[in-house]
Amino acid sequence: MSKQAEKGPAAENPEELLDLKITHPKDWAAGIPAVTVAMVDILKEAGLARGMEGLFHMNKKSGFDCSGCAWPDPDDDRSAIAEYCENGAKALAEEATTKKLTGDFFAENSVADLAKLNDYEIGKKGRIAQPVYLAKGATHYAPVSWDFAFKKIADELNALASPDEAAFYTSGRTSNEASFTYQLFVREFGTNNMPDCSNMCHESTGVGLADTIGIGKGTVTLNDFYDTDVIIIMGQNPGTNHPRMLSALEKAKQKGSKIIAVNPLHEAGLMGFKNPQTVKGILGIKTQLADLYLQVKINGDMALLKAMEKLLYEAERENSGSVFDHEFIKKNTTGYVAFLDSLNQYKIDDLAKAAGLTVNEIEQAVDLIKNKSRIIICWAMGITQHKNGVDTVKEIVNLAMLKGAIGKPGAGLCPVRGHSNVQGNRTMMIWDKPKPKQLDKLKEVFGFEPPRGHGYDVVASIKAMDEGKLKVFFAMGGNFLSATPDTLFTAQAMRKLKLSVHVSTKLNRSHLVHGEEALILPTLSRSDKDVVNGEEQFISCENSMGVVQMSKGMLKPVSEHLMNENQIICNLAKATLGHRAVVDWDKYSQSYDAVRDAIAKVIPGCEDYNQKVRLPGGFYLPNAAREGKFITEKNGAVVPFNIAPLPKHELAADEYHMATIRSHDQFNTTIYGLDDRYRGIHNERRVILMNENDMKNAGFRAEEKVDLFNYDDGVERVARLFVVVPYNIPEGNTATYYPEANVLVPINSVAEQSNTPTSKLVNIKIRKHVG
Ligand code: SF4
Repeated sequence: MSKQAEKGPAAENPEELLDLKITHPKDWAAGIPAVTVAMVDILKEAGLARGMEGLFHMNKKSGFDCSGCAWPDPDDDRSAIAEYCENGAKALAEEATTKKLTGDFFAENSVADLAKLNDYEIGKKGRIAQPVYLAKGATHYAPVSWDFAFKKIADELNALASPDEAAFYTSGRTSNEASFTYQLFVREFGTNNMPDCSNMCHESTGVGLADTIGIGKGTVTLNDFYDTDVIIIMGQNPGTNHPRMLSALEKAKQKGSKIIAVNPLHEAGLMGFKNPQTVKGILGIKTQLADLYLQVKINGDMALLKAMEKLLYEAERENSGSVFDHEFIKKNTTGYVAFLDSLNQYKIDDLAKAAGLTVNEIEQAVDLIKNKSRIIICWAMGITQHKNGVDTVKEIVNLAMLKGAIGKPGAGLCPVRGHSNVQGNRTMMIWDKPKPKQLDKLKEVFGFEPPRGHGYDVVASIKAMDEGKLKVFFAMGGNFLSATPDTLFTAQAMRKLKLSVHVSTKLNRSHLVHGEEALILPTLSRSDKDVVNGEEQFISCENSMGVVQMSKGMLKPVSEHLMNENQIICNLAKATLGHRAVVDWDKYSQSYDAVRDAIAKVIPGCEDYNQKVRLPGGFYLPNAAREGKFITEKNGAVVPFNIAPLPKHELAADEYHMATIRSHDQFNTTIYGLDDRYRGIHNERRVILMNENDMKNAGFRAEEKVDLFNYDDGVERVARLFVVVPYNIPEGNTATYYPEANVLVPINSVAEQSNTPTSKLVNIKIRKHVG
């Protein structure tokens, strides 16, 4: 058994805790507290005038796209009051803050001192106001010119033995325009090493859907929610991670839809919604959301889906033609008989037990969908971040196909994406595994030969850093170290880099665990006014439902030294490629319209991009599956039923399953505050939610201090000093906050086929804290 060196970011192993307060978890989300909390944040960070100006323009047709999640805006009328949620307002507060980090800040604060702060404290420091450089052996970042920064990176890139010794990461905030020029530069430079944040969240969705329905995206539009009979929400917590979805769910309920929630935790935003934009909500009256709440065990979803399919099959046999959509199945699918046969191997009692439910609960779910076909199935990382994540996505497709619930109004598949443009990034070819025909198109339009081999995704990049195969790491946004698994392993790997570069708006932990040399390049945020050649510019993004629309910031940037992402890429391309470049980088640097014209030539569905993106509300990208047409690579026009085994879970007597979750006061790695008011946890994030029976059996009392351990691959991983919080969670299951518990997620524990870290299921042991 090897022990992981505890030489990680200092904050990974703190010596003391804050003053935790526990209150009763809520059974409703939003309401007036959401408005109050959002306003306090905005006023504190941006001030009244700047904050209100930003909020007024957020998610409006002529305004800017919220940099939070990828939930879509309404196609037609948008709210005159507020087209954003509490978390959208908090995201704006973060980027519209007037606090800025100049050279003085970096002169006063060493990297080592900053690394002692937790993620919340680091994030609250303010916007980075100028490019800064950490020289080899230096203790402090120091201001440098943009020219110095581009030359430094270009020199390092050009000194590599192969372009494959560099990797170029993308976070989901990057616009379509910047994503396009970024991948163009990286491929002209000569590598497909393009890890992105999608590798860590919905990659299992992309693989599972592309393999079945032929497109790695969902098939519903927002309007489908208002014309459906049943919405099933699996492994997703909309109240915290996609809060405006609650308005859509409320409207769906008003129109008669039923909601089935499937989650190991009773999440407030799945139970009730007090809409602060209605009199009812202001008066504190909630709309009940879930009609049926299925509290599955962690990763009990596959067993639940199979149990539902088995019971539906029995109902169909009793009353042929009344439950399954035979016309859909015959026209669009293959493997139906073998699939039904495969269900015979299971007993319903065993499936219910594996799901952590009673047969009666599953029968209730089946009763709700048995005679309906307008069914929408939503999911997020509770489904995808498991070893069997791809298979569970395909099982969702199986269920939808039995019911004919794809490709018609009010029905379909709805993976809900986390970061605002993560789907657009992939559409713009940010991908380590580009298709040959995509590369052929690049070659045809630009005249250079793009690299053909697959590049590194996130997990492969970390391993390549560790093995010394990567020398330069360039991150377009994000907080790579905090977002990735196995934090100490990843930190050690990042320290082996020759040069690490981050294009960022704010300081984060990834700047403090760096290569031999490091650069931070400050960029504009979504809400910032972007002026090129005296003209105000706009960018474009794609939301979770495939709508591409413009986004135009209007707030005065906090510093004159910020550069937009597209210009950073174009300048870097010029510095690196020099006379080798065949792409006209000057042209793209000076004109987003020119970039959009190039997008129109290369990306299917983006013809006339400059015209379509200027339409109020934007335009829908083509999606054949949404129209009920399936164009699959392997199977032609038919979708295969997928036969997958049940996952096997083996736990020692003193082990538990741990899922990492987000608090209500955070968005991905950005920590807005230390409270999780829906779950009743305040002023501390180092908590572990445990079932009271498990606590009793293990001899833990409430608020006991514990240490958490994982032993995969014969390595001891430790997360020290957590506090036990008794919680309504299935026995044998626990939950901790991400990124604090990422240190326990083994680098080799990934989803089959998608390589997504299994952050929703880690085997842990819990022991009383020693210290
Ligand atoms: S739902 Fe998502 S996109 Fe909409 S305002 Fe909230 S965080 Fe932003």
